[in-house]
Amino acid sequence: MLLKVENLRKYYPVHGLLRKKGFVRAVDGISFGLDKGEVLSLVGESGCGKTTTGRIIVGLERPTEGRIVFEGKEVVDWKPIRRFVQMIFQDPYASLNPKMSIGEHLTEPLIVHGFDRDEAFDEAIRMLERVGLTPAEEFYLRFPWQLSGGQRQRVAIARAMILKPKLVVADEPVSMIDVSLRASILNLLMSFKSEYGLSMLFISHDLSVSRLISDGIAVMYLGKIVEMGDVDSVIENPLHPYTKALLSAVPSFEKRIRFEIKGDVADPKNPPKGCRLHPRCPLAKDVCRREEPEMVEVEKNHFVACHLVH
Ligand code: ADP
Ligand code: MG
Repeated sequence: MLLKVENLRKYYPVHGLLRKKGFVRAVDGISFGLDKGEVLSLVGESGCGKTTTGRIIVGLERPTEGRIVFEGKEVVDWKPIRRFVQMIFQDPYASLNPKMSIGEHLTEPLIVHGFDRDEAFDEAIRMLERVGLTPAEEFYLRFPWQLSGGQRQRVAIARAMILKPKLVVADEPVSMIDVSLRASILNLLMSFKSEYGLSMLFISHDLSVSRLISDGIAVMYLGKIVEMGDVDSVIENPLHPYTKALLSAVPSFEKRIRFEIKGDVADPKNPPKGCRLHPRCPLAKDVCRREEPEMVEVEKNHFVACHLVH
């Protein structure tokens, strides 16, 4: 297994009114694994903790609790694995440095890792061609403000891929891209997977995209994973009420599943006791209000945390 995430938690301190201190439980005890060459989608509504999880894995945040294991070793210092674990961010306008040319965005990581300038230049040109930014010599000299959102995201992908990472966290990489360009950006991303066995944690709130590109899927709600498994099992046979509700909101799945939950996501500073979904779940029973459900393997590689399922 390339990556193991074990009981990961991230609590952000918040200083509310009357100096009452509390915590936002952004990620609240999640575990999953990712094999070499595998794409795992992390899906769920805005605010459920997807980005925080991704940022911890690449070392941009420190966990409050839990472990990240990469290639069999617990990661305590991210420096030695940094080149192998890259992130692609949601916002292509924020992820590039306005003062750096596109060429510098691509040569900088190479030079940091010991390439000389000529080698770095050649690699950068090859990569620009590879991601479809041609003529490459022209794009090399341009600055981020001269590029469209789609072109910037291609640069961000090029920069993430230039050191041939083993793992990429792609955080909703097409959600801010024009709809007409999304498929080509996703295809580009996927082409790196087949080219060198890259593994990817693909963060998304769009289940129809996740279904197309993933091997596995993990559904998050309020800092927890509620259902996880092979993409076909989870999408063809969703068992958690929250997964069912997410799927019934996707137009192409609408005919098969109709399941609604009420109200809005609860406050992550004060999550409901028992099952976090219980105030919204039409099937909730007493036990759901009392006890937190455990993750149980209900069929081969299909895990669900719901009292009503097991
Ligand atoms: P998602 O990517 O699924 O939308 P995030 O991981 O961005 O979710 O956020 C999860 C929760 O943590 C949200 O309630 C968010 O407001 C909170 N959060 C994220 N980053 C911080 C931070 N730096 N400080 C305080 N709260 C944060
Ligand atoms: Mg996010």
